[in-house]
Amino acid sequence: MHRRPALIVLAFAVLLAMADPAHAATLKLRILETTDVHMNLLDWDYYQDKATTEYGLARTATLIHEARSQSRNSLLFDNGDLLQGNPMGDWVARVKPLAQGQVHPAYKVLQALRYDAGNIGNHEFNYGLPFLRQAIASAAFPLVSANVMLPDGRTHAFTPYVILAREFHDDAGQAHRLKVGVIGFVPPQIMLWDKQHLEGKVVARDILQTARELVPRMREQGAQIVVAIAHSGFERGETVFFAENSVARLAEVAGIDAILFGHSHGEFPGRFFAGHPKVDLARGTINGVPSVMPGRWGDHLGVIDLVLDDSAGNWKVVDSRAEIRPITDRATRKPLVAADPQVAQLVGAEHEGTLAYVRGAVAQTRQPIISYFAQVTDDPSVQLVALAQLDYARRALQGTEFERLPLLSAAAPFKAGGRQGWNYYTDIPAGPVAVRNIADLYIYPNTVKAVRVTGATVREWLEMSAGQFRRVDPAGPAEQPIINEAFRTYNFDTLDGVTYAIDVTQPARYDANGKRTAHEGRRIVDLRHQGQPVRDDQTFIVVTNNYRASGGGTFPGLDGTQIVMDAPDENREALVRYLARERDVDPTADGNWRILPVPGVTLRFTSGAGGIAHLARYPQIRLVKDNGDGSAVYELRH
Ligand code: MN
Ligand code: MG
Repeated sequence: MHRRPALIVLAFAVLLAMADPAHAATLKLRILETTDVHMNLLDWDYYQDKATTEYGLARTATLIHEARSQSRNSLLFDNGDLLQGNPMGDWVARVKPLAQGQVHPAYKVLQALRYDAGNIGNHEFNYGLPFLRQAIASAAFPLVSANVMLPDGRTHAFTPYVILAREFHDDAGQAHRLKVGVIGFVPPQIMLWDKQHLEGKVVARDILQTARELVPRMREQGAQIVVAIAHSGFERGETVFFAENSVARLAEVAGIDAILFGHSHGEFPGRFFAGHPKVDLARGTINGVPSVMPGRWGDHLGVIDLVLDDSAGNWKVVDSRAEIRPITDRATRKPLVAADPQVAQLVGAEHEGTLAYVRGAVAQTRQPIISYFAQVTDDPSVQLVALAQLDYARRALQGTEFERLPLLSAAAPFKAGGRQGWNYYTDIPAGPVAVRNIADLYIYPNTVKAVRVTGATVREWLEMSAGQFRRVDPAGPAEQPIINEAFRTYNFDTLDGVTYAIDVTQPARYDANGKRTAHEGRRIVDLRHQGQPVRDDQTFIVVTNNYRASGGGTFPGLDGTQIVMDAPDENREALVRYLARERDVDPTADGNWRILPVPGVTLRFTSGAGGIAHLARYPQIRLVKDNGDGSAVYELRH
C-alpha cells in the first residue's frame, strides 16, 4: 500500500528529469571486491601454525562492514581463486570431501557476508571439474565465468553472466530499480595449468573476444551498468590473443562501467602502475574505466564509487573513484581492523580439521632434513626445494614451447643461523614430515617462476651466488674462514641440473649489489650440463621464485623480462604437492656442486652445534670445536 505514493513520486521524478536535466536524479553506487583469497578465510598461517594479522577474509570482512555502512548502495563481489591455496583448501577438497548438499565453507562465509556474485579463478579448477561443479551447486549466490565452454565450443560450461535487479536509493532518498550486469573471465591458460582435469571436457576462449561478444548482449538484455570481474592481471606491452593478463585491453571494450581484477596478486591503484599511459592512479582508472585489484589473501578490499546520473534518460556513470583499503598498515605492520568473529564461528569445524591435517604427516623422509651445512655442501634442505620446483615446472611447462629446453632449479638456504641465531636451522628428523614443517624448508611466501636464460647468464648467476665466500689466500694462514657473513644466505642460490665447482682462491666477480668487481677471474669452474661444458649461447629454463626472477638480489641478467612461467602458486605449496605425491622421499643431496680444496689451507666455517649429531653422514666435514654457545667450528676435509 505504501508503495503507491513512492511509485507516483518516482514517475513524477522521471518526468521532471526528462523535461529538465537539472532535476535529474544522482545515485551513488559502491562496488566492493575481494580477490585471490586462496582459502584464507581466517587470519591463520597454517604453515607456521599460528595466528596472523597480515591476511584473512575474517579481517577483510570488517572492512566490508565499514564500507557498506558508509554508502547507501553497495554491491559485493569475489573474483575467484577462492577455493584453493592453503591447507584448508586441500583439507576440504581431499581430506574431508563435501557431503551431498553441504555448502563449501568458503561459499558459506561469502553467503553470510552477503556477496552478490562471484567469479571463477584459475585455481578453482585445481581439484577437477566434479569438485568445482559440486561446490558451485552448493552456493546460494551466482558464480559466473564467460570464457569457458563445453567441447562443442558453443555451450557455456558455467553461467557466463548474470543481470542483477537491485533497488538503489538516489541522493534524495528516492528508490530506483537498476539492472547490473556481472560477467566473469578466467585466464585461458587453465587448459595448460589443469590439462589433466580439463582436456576434452571444456575449452577456454580468449577474454577480449568473449567480452566484445557478450557485453553488448548483456546491454541488449537490459543491463544498465556492466561490471566485468576479470581473474586476469594488467598486461604490459602487447596484448596477444589468448593473453593471460588482459585488463588494459578489456578497459577498451565498449559498455564496461567497472573492472574488478586480480590473478597477479597486485594492488591497483598502486605505485607499481605509475606512469602507464592508460592509467590514472589518482582516480583509479584504466583507459577511463574505474578499476581495482585488491592484492591477495584478503589483505585489501577493493572499493569503487560510481556516481550515476539519469539526466540523459538512462543511467550513466558520470564520475568515479577507485581505491584499495588495507587490513594492515604497511609501514608499521600494525593491524588496522579486527577480525569479524562471525567468520571463525562459521568455519570453526573446518579450522579444527585443518589444524589436525597440518600437524599430521604428509610424507615420510628417509633421511633427516637439515640445513647446518647448506653453505658449504649440497644439502638435503636445499635439494628438496630444488626437486619440488623441478617437479612443478615440468608439469606447468608441459605442452608449451619451453617443454624441451634443459630445466634447472635454483634454491638457497633460508634458515642458516648467523645473524638469526645459532638455533635458526632446518632440522627435521627422519620419519614423518608434516605440512607445518614446510615453513622450516621455505619460510617466504614466494611464488614459483621460471626464467629463460643463456648459458652465460647461468654462469654469472652462480658467480653472483659465490659472493657467499670470502677469498682464501693459498699462500696465507694454514686455517682460513670461508663464509662471508655479510652475504645474505637467501642469495646463495645453487643450481640443480648442472654440475660445478667453486674456486674460493679467486676474488668475487660481483659485489653485494651485483656490480662487476675489477677482478677478471672466475670462481665457478667446470660448469657442465649432462657432462658437457656449458656453452654461453645455450638456452636454459631455470625455475626459481618471484623474488629472484624479478631482479631481487640484483643478480646479473635477471630483471623480470626473462620470466616465461609466471605462476601464482607458492614455492611452499609446490613443496606440499611434491611431498604429498611422493609420500616417501629421500632428500639426500646429489652433490652437484662442491668447493675446491685449497692445497696447504684448511677451510673453516662456523655453524650451529646442532650439526654435530649429523656428522656421521657428512664425511667431508669435521668438527674442530663446539663453542658452547650453540655454535661450532667445522672444517672441510678433502
Ligand atoms: Mn591467485
Ligand atoms: Mg643438488
